[in-house]
Amino acid sequence: MRYVSTRGGVQGLSFCDAVMMGLADDGGLLVPETIPNVSADLPHLAGKGYLDLAAYVMGQFIDDIPAAELRSIIERSYGTFDSPTVTPLVDVGGVHVLELFHGPTLAFKDVALQFLGNVFEYVLNKRGGRLNILGATSGDTGSAAIAGVRGKQNINIFIMFPEGRTSPLQEKQMTTVLDANVQNLAIEGSFDDCQSILKSIFNDLAFKDAYDLGAVNSVNWARVLAQVVYYFSAYVQLGLPARFEVAVPTGNFGNIFAGYIARRMGLPIDTLILATNQNDILHRFFTTGRYERGEVHLSHSPAMDIQVASNFERYLYFEFGQSPEKVKTFMSDFSSTGAATTNLDSLDTNAAFTSGRVSDEDTLATIARVFEESGYLLDPHTAVGVQIGLANRRSKVPLVCLATAHPSKFDDVIAQAIPGIEASHPTLELLKDLPVRKTLLEGEVRIIKDFISTFNDQQVS
Ligand SMILES: *Cc1c(COP(=O)(O)O)cnc(C)c1O
Repeated sequence: MRYVSTRGGVQGLSFCDAVMMGLADDGGLLVPETIPNVSADLPHLAGKGYLDLAAYVMGQFIDDIPAAELRSIIERSYGTFDSPTVTPLVDVGGVHVLELFHGPTLAFKDVALQFLGNVFEYVLNKRGGRLNILGATSGDTGSAAIAGVRGKQNINIFIMFPEGRTSPLQEKQMTTVLDANVQNLAIEGSFDDCQSILKSIFNDLAFKDAYDLGAVNSVNWARVLAQVVYYFSAYVQLGLPARFEVAVPTGNFGNIFAGYIARRMGLPIDTLILATNQNDILHRFFTTGRYERGEVHLSHSPAMDIQVASNFERYLYFEFGQSPEKVKTFMSDFSSTGAATTNLDSLDTNAAFTSGRVSDEDTLATIARVFEESGYLLDPHTAVGVQIGLANRRSKVPLVCLATAHPSKFDDVIAQAIPGIEASHPTLELLKDLPVRKTLLEGEVRIIKDFISTFNDQQVS
């Protein structure tokens, strides 16, 4: 399988090349040249476990890692999960909840980042070289990225977060990791400051090259690919239904885009039900065809407080008949005017999506109602998906709702929804007494660069 850019300026990459490039050099996103259709194989997947499914699905898109090595990467990536099923499907009052939060940081990002960390390690071992990962986080992504690469050779990770502005729990998930290759940088400033520092460092190409800077953001193709697997897992755990539907709480369009790939591979997903909070750029797109930037609003489902969905360009590329010209026109309209429009009826698989948005009040109400009816505790992100899933399901086929975080990660919201309930998890309880390490730094580009270069110089000597 070869990889190309959605904007046409990069071609002929192998899977490992695409993973190491991350964002395409022409500013587009990397996508496989074709999406293989595996319909004929589906009956043979009956009863297969997660590792076999991962090897099968990923094998369709990777031809530059030998099968035995890929298998070993997969085993190591999902050996860190606390369920042998990896992503177990649980019946909650007639809805099938696919629990994606059994990894080390209790959020679905582990599914992708455990795999990505191991692929990075594999490629560096084979090709030589090193990687300095730099990221900015307001919460969940940072800890999952750290968990993905902690202790790995030839990889350092530097995660910036705004000092005092992440939840104490989220901060502990990062700062209790004491491996030498992990550096938590508590920045005096806001999350926006962290992001703008990140941008200017990545824009300094000389520095980026000199220090082999890399990112783990949600546009890396390996992340999407790892997420395709659990749609197959849901299908197999349901017992190969003729059709099913999936509701996905959505922010950057990474998770649901993986479902779109699975659907194009032939998995019988009737509709992908896209659920947003009040940050509803994608819901507006799927109802009007107009993709228009708004302001970011803080919500009870903070990992979805996103206005521009970074994976959306990949979807446009396939819907526009794989035409880089059409993608470029749409994206340049969007970046110059803040809005771009397309005719939904002209899209290739328009019927694939329905969508809806959920207020904070309804998020709380859904958490409370589901708990009352079935004793199952939804995290606020999952609650957004469940509400829209139930409202939008079009047929009497099984409905799968993706559960993206364990409720204990958002215990403050849970307590608001159901007074007197305390959501907890042993992994998080353990963190409370562990030692922490972080470096407090001024929010200045030069200071962060100095930190990275000094750290690397010390490693060499
Ligand atoms: C990142 C995240 C999401 C959103 O996923 P996207 O791939 O960005 O659409 C939803 N829920 C939780 C808990 C997350 O961490």
